[in-house]
Amino acid sequence: MKLSWKQYDLQLKHTFRISRSARDVASVIILEFEHDGIVGYGEASPAKRYGETLETIDSFFRKINFERFDSPLLLEDILNYTDSIEQGNTSAKCAVDLALHDWVGKKLGVPLYKLWGLNPDKTAKCSFTIAIDSKEVVEQKVHEAEEYPILKVKVGLDNDKEMITTIRSITDKVLYVDANEGWKDKHLALERIKWLKDQNVEFVEQPMPADQFDDIKWLRDRSDLPLIADESVLRLSEVPKLAEAFDGINIKLMKCTGVREAMRMISTAKALNMKIMMGCMIETAVGVSAGAHLSPLLDYADLDGNVLITNDPFDGVRNIRGELKLNNKPGLGVTLK
Ligand code: MG
Repeated sequence: MKLSWKQYDLQLKHTFRISRSARDVASVIILEFEHDGIVGYGEASPAKRYGETLETIDSFFRKINFERFDSPLLLEDILNYTDSIEQGNTSAKCAVDLALHDWVGKKLGVPLYKLWGLNPDKTAKCSFTIAIDSKEVVEQKVHEAEEYPILKVKVGLDNDKEMITTIRSITDKVLYVDANEGWKDKHLALERIKWLKDQNVEFVEQPMPADQFDDIKWLRDRSDLPLIADESVLRLSEVPKLAEAFDGINIKLMKCTGVREAMRMISTAKALNMKIMMGCMIETAVGVSAGAHLSPLLDYADLDGNVLITNDPFDGVRNIRGELKLNNKPGLGVTLK
């Protein structure tokens, strides 16, 4: 069982600005897991917000030693071991999880959705993200996104109302709103949500900073729109507590260590009667396809990470007007271009 990895610099079509950062390039690491002549692909897209960089991923991969395992089919044992190496490192762990699942699917000759018994005709409708920008650029982006039925709008700076008003002057399609922890005051957050309620907005994602849990609880009791946790939730163990302050969770494979734990988070959230969304970082078709295989289980999908870049090195799931189209290739169904 052999691991090798390589960095890819993904070029963004537009500067990607959210409430805490802006960037034009996103670097990811693609992991290859090779055994018995079969190669499985995984991906790590690090987020500083969660303490990861390209360097921490590289150093985590170097600590992995699979010698004790006889077969990659022992996913539970291998992934528990990987998780035990060190705390955190969730996107690095995700890369291992994806590469092993891809390998197993290829070994067995089936796509992951088939292995899980999921219906590829029921993939969740995918939103297209409009990041924070000037009125002119937002107008241009909304026109570019014409074919997508749902827009996810980033807010959380001073121009929230301008962002939404600009979009609403062009289209009345459904909007998801993501404040990325940008509203630091609960009264301001409530005022913004009350205003958004009249703008055909479906829900608000992470209105306030994750460490202001009690403020979010206060807000949720008064909010006219459902609140979805994103930065507040990384892994499975956090889900039950979040039901006190949120109506749903945004699962990201890069935060939760991969599809194996994501599946358990979905079951837990369902048991708590919470809505389930899956999002992504800026990722190639490797990470996005992995999420798409799980998407028949979701209420909302925000799996557009590779639609926002110009140089995806992989082919995989296709996003046709917001419909995620899974192919019939084994594993993740991705191929290097
Ligand atoms: Mg978010």
